[in-house]
This record gives sequence, structure tokens and C-alpha cells, in this order.
Amino acid sequence: MRYPTGATYDAIVVGAGPAGAHLATLLARAGRSVALLDRARFPRDKVCGGGVSRKSIALLDLDITPIAHKWVSGAFLTFQNRAGVIKEFGYAAGCMVLRSEFDQLLLERARAAGAFYSGETAFLDVREQSDSLVVETSRGPLRGRRLFAADGVASAVRKKVFGRGLVGTVPALEARVELPESTLAEFGDRAVFDFGGMPRGYGWIFPKRDHLNVGVYSPFGGSGLARQLSSFLERYPALRDRGKLTTFGYAIPLRNSAGLFERGRVALLGDAAGLVECLFGEGIYFALKSAALAARAEIARAGGEALSYSQLLRRELLPELRAAWLLAQGLYTFQEFAFRHLVCNDRINRLFAGLIAGDTGYRECLVKALLAAPAWIARPAPPRDPVIS
Ligand SMILES: Cc1cc2nc3c(=O)[nH]c(=O)nc-3n(C[C@H](O)[C@H](O)[C@H](O)COP(=O)(O)OP(=O)(O)OC[C@H]3O[C@@H](n4cnc5c(N)ncnc54)[C@H](O)[C@@H]3O)c2cc1C
Repeated sequence: MRYPTGATYDAIVVGAGPAGAHLATLLARAGRSVALLDRARFPRDKVCGGGVSRKSIALLDLDITPIAHKWVSGAFLTFQNRAGVIKEFGYAAGCMVLRSEFDQLLLERARAAGAFYSGETAFLDVREQSDSLVVETSRGPLRGRRLFAADGVASAVRKKVFGRGLVGTVPALEARVELPESTLAEFGDRAVFDFGGMPRGYGWIFPKRDHLNVGVYSPFGGSGLARQLSSFLERYPALRDRGKLTTFGYAIPLRNSAGLFERGRVALLGDAAGLVECLFGEGIYFALKSAALAARAEIARAGGEALSYSQLLRRELLPELRAAWLLAQGLYTFQEFAFRHLVCNDRINRLFAGLIAGDTGYRECLVKALLAAPAWIARPAPPRDPVIS
């Protein structure tokens, strides 16, 4: 598709993942002219566990039932499947999706809101002019007043405008595991979090309609992820019967080293900005939240209010990400101790569940865990539930 010629868009959004599609929706709904472009052809897949937390769904304010694979109302919390605790939330704390379907839904909503979408269109370069900017794309130039980079962890916009090295990443590896229906049924609607699933990190098993998504991640990075994933899977007898395993690796951005999110008319969102929380590697919520804050700043600016996107990030998001980093340090540095004392402790694991659901903030969780330290350090809570056989 060619761009409508001669138009100057209020906003050009590069990348139609959760950050870009959500921002395009919010700005288009606020009456802005928006061009949303993505180099991929949608629906496209994205390496991701596809765990969408309840707080993300609340932020989206969208019925995702049509694409929901499983509503997760419980978790099996374990240490290397040697001991475990079953945590029933009593509500759906999140939803398992396929990113191809989830992202397509968000893109359709952005288009329905009035954003002009151009697929298979790659960002190439940007030139700032006095009152606007010109974005060079694989389909020709496009003029706009603001450019929002939502083009993921390897953001080409970020590299052009902010240079290299702004965002620090760690690798994560996942696989799709096909199993007989009877074995899948045993996992039900519970997600497995294995807090010894990888050295200084965790392993996950996320149930989908017709397969399991399994993976390993450490906020400290780490090498030999294929070996780590294979050892993780070997600890679950139910997974040994699997068919061929295809693994997919990708980077998770955990740090924006200079705390830089805007330059001139350009702003960074989601993975492009390095906005993923360290504790579980959850990025979809932070991509959506950064989009919501960018939209709020845009709308405030037009109303004459001096409230920048960077200020909003510093106020509402970055302190939470810092607290998540401290929690991750505690949880993964002393893995087995943390499992017995923190993860198995009902009061503390309720706080962790609250993080996913959105009932608890990371700072609140950190403070409450620290205040309760004398009790949980003195008394380890024994694991109660049998392993997954
Ligand atoms: C193994 C793994 C498992 C994960 N599991 C989870 C999970 O279960 N739950 C969770 O919340 N998070 C998870 N994450 C993190 C999550 O996937 C990301 O944080 C999230 O996708 C970020 O969204 P985004 O919109 O910023 O970027 P993306 O979703 O990466 O979207 C970026 C878009 O930009 C497009 N693009 C890239 N370059 C260009 C270009 N030059 N021109 C035009 N378009 C371009 C891409 O095609 C893409 O569509 C996981 C990550 C990994 C690696």
C-alpha cells in the first residue's frame, strides 16, 4: 500500500507490536492522524511465552476472549520439580495467547480507531526539520510531527537516533512442546514457574490450547541456554514423551543505561526503550503502559500542559522497574533459600501473584517482603504439593 501523498501525520509509529498498536489506537481515538508501519506481514509471530497478565488486559480494556488459549487461575511453583506448592488464585490472573493472534487483534483495533496502517514497510532513516520530520521507509518517505519507536528490542529507530549501546539485553530461549491431549490436560489451566529452572533465573511452562510453551530466562544473562532448557525439560517426566522440539531464542531488554527515552521529536517505547521487568521478563504490560504514558503526554502537550513522556516514565514506571530488579536480585541470587522461604510462604507468594494480576506494585511487594523478613527468614515454609510426574 502507498501512503496517502502529501499528508503530514501527527504521529508516525514504527512497529505494530503491543506498544505501537496500543499507542496508535489511543492517539487515533484522541483525534490524531496516525501512520503505523511494520516491516513484517501480519499476522506475524513473535518469540514470546504469550503470557498476558491481568494488569495488561485491564490496561488494554479489550475483550481478548476470542483469542484466549487458557485463562490462568493457578500456578505450580516449584524448585526443579523436586518440591512444589500449588497456588490457586481464585481468579484469572492472566491469559495465555499466541502472539500472532494477540498482536493481530491489537492491530485491527488500531485500524478501526482510524490509524493508517502500512505493513511490510521497514523504517530506514529519519531526518528532523524545523517543524516536522521525514521518515524514510522501504516504501518511500513519510512526513510527521512526532516519531514513536515501537520497533522492538533491536530498534532501528533507536540505533539511528540514539546510537548503539543505550539498551542492555539478556537472552531467553523458548520451545513449543507438542504432547498428547491427555498429558496436556494434566497441566490444566495452571502455569508452572520453576525457580531453579535455570541458574540465577527461572523456567516456565505455559499451557496453550494444543501445546505447551516452555522456556528459560535469567535477568543476569547466562550462556548455554539450549543446554539449560534441555535440563529443565528433563526434570518433568510428563514432557519426556514430547515430539520434535524446535527452540526459539531472542533478546529481552532490561536496561536503558542512560535513562534516555526522548530526543527531539522522537520517543522510544516498550522493548525499544528497554522497558521489561527483570523478575519474570514480563514485557507486554510495560510496552502497553509506555504507550499509554506516551499518549497521555501527547494529549497533555496539545492542551498546553508541560508534562513530558520522560517525566511520566520516571514517575510511574521506572521506580517499579527498579524495585523489580531488586526483587530479582534477591530471588535468583539465593535461589533455593528464596524458594523455601519466600516462594513457599503463602503471604509472600500472594504478593507475587498480585504483581501479575496488578493488585500489588513492585515497590509495595519489595517493602512488604522486607518488613516481613524477620518472620520468613526464621521460618522456612515447607513445600506441600507433589511434583509433576
Ligand atoms: C523468549 C521470550 C519470552 C517472553 N515471554 C513473555 C511473556 O510471556 N509475557 C510478557 O509479557 N512478555 C514476554 N516477553 C517479552 C515480550 O515479548 C516483549 O517485551 C514485547 O513483545 C514488547 O512489545 P513491543 O511492542 O515493544 O515490541 P515487539 O512486540 O517486539 O514489536 C516490535 C514490532 O516492530 C517491528 N519492527 C522491527 N523493526 C522494524 C523496522 N525497522 N521497521 C518497521 N517495523 C519494525 C517488528 O516486526 C514488530 O512487529 C518475552 C520475550 C522473550 C524473548
